Amino acid sequence: IKGKRTRHYAFYEDLDIKQLSEDRLMEDVFEDALKNGEFQLWYQPKVDPVTGNILGAEALIRWKRPDGTMLSPGKFIPLFEKNGNITTLDEYVFRTVCAQQQRWLQAGATLYPISVNISRVSLYYSNVVDKYREILNSFRLDPKYVPLEITESATIDNSDISSLIEQFHEAGFTLLLDDFGSGYSSLSSLNVMHFDTIKLDKSLIDYIGDRNGEKLLLHITQLLQSFGMTITAEGVETSDQVEFLKNLHCDDIQGYYFSKPLPVNEFEDFVRKHTG
Ligand code: C2E
Ligand code: CA
Ligand code: CA
Ligand code: CA
Repeated sequence: IKGKRTRHYAFYEDLDIKQLSEDRLMEDVFEDALKNGEFQLWYQPKVDPVTGNILGAEALIRWKRPDGTMLSPGKFIPLFEKNGNITTLDEYVFRTVCAQQQRWLQAGATLYPISVNISRVSLYYSNVVDKYREILNSFRLDPKYVPLEITESATIDNSDISSLIEQFHEAGFTLLLDDFGSGYSSLSSLNVMHFDTIKLDKSLIDYIGDRNGEKLLLHITQLLQSFGMTITAEGVETSDQVEFLKNLHCDDIQGYYFSKPLPVNEFEDFVRKHTG
């Protein structure tokens, strides 16, 4: 077995991801990577725009390969969405965040919601809500501590999404519409999809500084707030953007201005320094 493993890794390190995607052994590589803990979670703080205090975080995956290279999700998520591994990976991420929250709870730390991404591909699986509820129960964790970030998609029917949202709500989850304004999202769908929070995509945040862009942002956030939705902004990089979003009564802000995604120990340091 040992010899086989060594050969396997030698083979693996020689390949780039593009080649991997075409290889029949991709399944083995994925399962080994999962078993060997090569997938790591980094945490990007979500901050109160008024006080600068921590409000929560988003868990973002990275793949640390045996040769030490770190792959960002853009390099492998599209591939895993194609071959179906994404469902296993999303579940792993959810389980890992639940376990982390449980460790913090047992250490007596204050818990903050840590949101987890679910690919729309994972939503196609009929028992997705049951799966997530089961995992949550196995950690005896309140669902408010693991909000779910879901991107809208042209390929999923609005009625299917709204029924899924309902089921997740019945299980107690908080739901964020991710990447709002990035292309797929239509205003009319907001009427039928009862998300708790809308996450303004970085492309909208980049409108700040442009007169018409700012008007658009102002009216979009007012509309969303009138629906009772809370607003998160992502990709916030400048103090001007923070100032503008503060005036819009945006609820939380995520971006390099406050912090990049951090490995867990550095995230804990950030929390210590930014607790109100
Ligand atoms: P996303 O959900 O829109 O996450 C935000 C991305 O923007 C992250 O990239 C983050 O590192 C980056 N970012 C944060 N603040 C700033 C900023 O101020 N400026 C700029 N330029 N970028 C910023 P990352 O970590 O590379 O993730 C890329 C995408 O991969 C995510 O986009 C998400 O769609 C996906 N992803 C990450 N983890 C998971 C996961 O566990 N499951 C699934 N299904 N998708 C994931
Ligand atoms: Ca996200
Ligand atoms: Ca996003
Ligand atoms: Ca985005």
